[in-house]
Amino acid sequence: MVSLDKNFVETMYSVEGKVALVTGATGALGKVAAKAYGYLGAKVMLTGRNSAKLQELVDEFKAEGIECDHFAADPAKVEDVEALIKATVEKYGRIDILAIAHGFNKPQNILEQSVEDWQYIMDADCKSVYIVLKYVAQQMVAQLDGAENVPSGSGGKIVVVTSQRSKRGMAGYTGYCTSKGGADMMIASMACDLSAKYGINVNAICPTVFRSELTEWMFDPESAVYQNFMKREPIGRLAEPSDFVGYVIFLSSHASDFITGAACDCSGGYLVC
Ligand code: NDP
Repeated sequence: MVSLDKNFVETMYSVEGKVALVTGATGALGKVAAKAYGYLGAKVMLTGRNSAKLQELVDEFKAEGIECDHFAADPAKVEDVEALIKATVEKYGRIDILAIAHGFNKPQNILEQSVEDWQYIMDADCKSVYIVLKYVAQQMVAQLDGAENVPSGSGGKIVVVTSQRSKRGMAGYTGYCTSKGGADMMIASMACDLSAKYGINVNAICPTVFRSELTEWMFDPESAVYQNFMKREPIGRLAEPSDFVGYVIFLSSHASDFITGAACDCSGGYLVC
């Protein structure tokens, strides 16, 4: 007998009343994720390393009626992440959604790159992801008060922005591709640890080029980078931050309860040709 609950369909994309923690909130993708949560009625804790930038964001969000706060933390430092989680729980009582949207790259040929520079990228894009995932997952599990085998999606939703570069190499990217590929595999393994037992969905979004301060130059139609991308972008354009929002809300809501451990393509079809 096939059945479909009308109320589920009508509410499956809702994040209203949820508590969302967003890392890299001062960046292009973190900001739109955080704002989208806020527009849809979630309470949002914004984090990054720069307190002044976070305060500006809080002022902007509050002017639009979004319930939010900020806490500055370096995601690669355990003590910072523990303090961030404590502050979030003290302020809003729990964490329902985690969006990890911080990251860094400094492209360099492996022959010229120092081991320290490589390690810095690995820490910014992989170790820090592990630390935030680990401690937020512990918080989400603690919120279950000992319950196990809870329905999928009811223990929490975790979305990590990795990259299409997690799947393809590129000159100068031995740090970035390695760390993003590692993050995708971390998410796959974490899903095996957490999803069935604790109802926590954890997924990655793998974007190609989205407009940000750092990528703005790639949007020049005269540039060789833009023209090369257009040879491999079936959708015929590069991405705007708003293109990212639908995926974030989908993976943060009950609409995606059966999806976990996935590295979701968000590339305009970059990998299909
Ligand atoms: P932005 O450069 O706009 O923002 C980066 C964010 O990460 C900022 O909030 C910054 O805040 C934080 N950050 C920077 N360096 C570090 C570091 N060393 N350690 C921890 N945090 C750091 O990035 P986007 O919003 O464009 O990208 C977000 C994520 O998406 C990143 O992981 C990026 O790799 C990935 N991505 C982006 C693409 C794009 O085209 N935009 C394409 C593919 C993947 P603060 O310095 O205050 O801590």
